[in-house]
Amino acid sequence: MKLLVHDIVLPLGRTEEDLPRFAGRRLKIPPSQIFSIEVQRRSLDCRKGRPPRWVHAIIIEVPSHLAEKLLKQNRARVWKPEVVEVPQDRSDRRPVVVGTGPAGLFCAWRLVQGGAKPRILERGPEVVERSKRWHRFIEGGEFDPECHLLFGEGGAGTYSDGKLYTRVQDPRVPEVLQVLVDHGAPEEILVDGRPHVGSNLLPSIVKRMRVALEEQGARFYFEHRLVDLKIDEDADGRSISKIVIEKDSERFDWDVDALFLATGHSARDVYQMLAKHRVPMSQKPFQIGVRVEHPQQAIDQMQYGDSAGHPQLPPADYSLVSKRSKDDLFSFCMCPGGEILPSTEQAGYMCVNGASRYQRKSPWANSGFVITLEPATFGDDTDPLAGILFQQKIEKAAFDAAGGDFSVPALRLMDFLHGRISKDLPDSSYPRKLTPTDLAEIFPPWILDPIRTGLADLAGRFREFAHPDAIITAPESRSSSPVRIDRHPETFESSGLGRLFPLGEGAGFAGGILSAALDGMRAAENWMSNTSSIGQS
Ligand SMILES: Cc1cc2nc3c(=O)[nH]c(=O)nc-3n(C[C@H](O)[C@H](O)[C@H](O)COP(=O)(O)OP(=O)(O)OC[C@H]3O[C@@H](n4cnc5c(N)ncnc54)[C@H](O)[C@@H]3O)c2cc1C
Repeated sequence: MKLLVHDIVLPLGRTEEDLPRFAGRRLKIPPSQIFSIEVQRRSLDCRKGRPPRWVHAIIIEVPSHLAEKLLKQNRARVWKPEVVEVPQDRSDRRPVVVGTGPAGLFCAWRLVQGGAKPRILERGPEVVERSKRWHRFIEGGEFDPECHLLFGEGGAGTYSDGKLYTRVQDPRVPEVLQVLVDHGAPEEILVDGRPHVGSNLLPSIVKRMRVALEEQGARFYFEHRLVDLKIDEDADGRSISKIVIEKDSERFDWDVDALFLATGHSARDVYQMLAKHRVPMSQKPFQIGVRVEHPQQAIDQMQYGDSAGHPQLPPADYSLVSKRSKDDLFSFCMCPGGEILPSTEQAGYMCVNGASRYQRKSPWANSGFVITLEPATFGDDTDPLAGILFQQKIEKAAFDAAGGDFSVPALRLMDFLHGRISKDLPDSSYPRKLTPTDLAEIFPPWILDPIRTGLADLAGRFREFAHPDAIITAPESRSSSPVRIDRHPETFESSGLGRLFPLGEGAGFAGGILSAALDGMRAAENWMSNTSSIGQS
């Protein structure tokens, strides 16, 4: 019998070779009685008031009389990981998956495991070509509306930070991590409490997953864009009969048995196309704010104090919240040793996001700081896409205010807090130009005020946060979808259009790589275990 034991603490300077001794001490058993020991989870505890330390959950094997004793004393519990049974699709139905982000890719992965042979459409290019075109743009070249940080093989996940954090307890989580490791992700993500892959490793992982899927019968169609649907309507309701695809300006149709729509939250043309077909959608809250960048050393100092620079400590991250104003301001997608990137899908609009490479070696730390906007603030409660229009207004103002050339609006943080326009800006990770900009040209006061109040609160609480070279860039407006594509809670089929299965972040049912991947897997499982789901009223 294997046992799971939590809270084995290793101070800095110790290594995992010391685990049997520390585990024995905590469990009050001789280390020699622990036959096997395996790390299940490893997290860094750097709460204030004590030096940083590593906390481990471990899986051990001990003699049965000791196992019984530990279970009785509640010092351990039986380790029995849950496994998901994949339903098998014995039909010859050929589902279509649209989008190769984590939702689409893991949906396809599950379909293939269940014996289905999906066709997978992706509007952007395959990842090698995508990387070439993306780098051309960030180094100052023209913007390509079909190939950027959001569109192309791997979706928004490809150049993301690749943080794989989730609070969700789902047996599919270790499975997703294992698939990523099997295709080239570092093995430590299986045990790290804050697993991270990095934007330099993700492209090759995505490519290897594609090759593995193709070997099992899936077919990928890059630079193929879903542009429309053809709909059958009868007494039983409305359902998709064909999809219309555009490739090199030519249009053609495919018959579909099921359309898994995993197009992400930035395919604004897809939402418009769905609205045209009266697919039920609703407004949902989303986050908006800024992205703040500090020298990484300042953040190490803030988090690790005197231990900053210790070789066992990674570049520090943080998770901060200010409740100083009526809208909580909280950090989002913090990227230690990372870079700020332009993350729009349209020329004429500006927004930012952050990423980091596996080694997190850049001298900067960046993070979104966002507030949550409720649908009541979008300006039109009758239009499900009002949140997108609101995002666009802000992103257009940002693009124009910074000169209309993908320069990012920026200020020194302390200038922003004191209501000044910066005369100069320090070096930054942002790959194109930074332009000192009055953020009041971008945000209305009811958004800007809570951001300023919250950041002033944090700068007052943490000396290093108020670093003179800290900068603020804007806007961070795509952290989540402002739209939900309504679907049945069990089958995941659209609540108004048969054969349409909206998934992932774009459907409003995920927020991040892992949750998007899990949503894709569940959608595939539901479909394979559900043989008749056609036609709805
Ligand atoms: C810079 C950056 C850093 C991030 N860092 C993290 C992180 O560290 N951790 C984390 O959990 N999340 C992170 N995210 C968010 C994460 O990437 C997304 O939550 C996730 O990718 C959403 O997955 P998805 O599959 O739902 O959609 P997406 O990844 O957006 O994929 C949608 C895909 O659909 C394709 N598509 C769109 N329209 C069409 C069409 N009409 N026809 C054909 N194809 C179409 C797109 O080209 C795209 O490939 C980051 C995002 C960015 C941009």
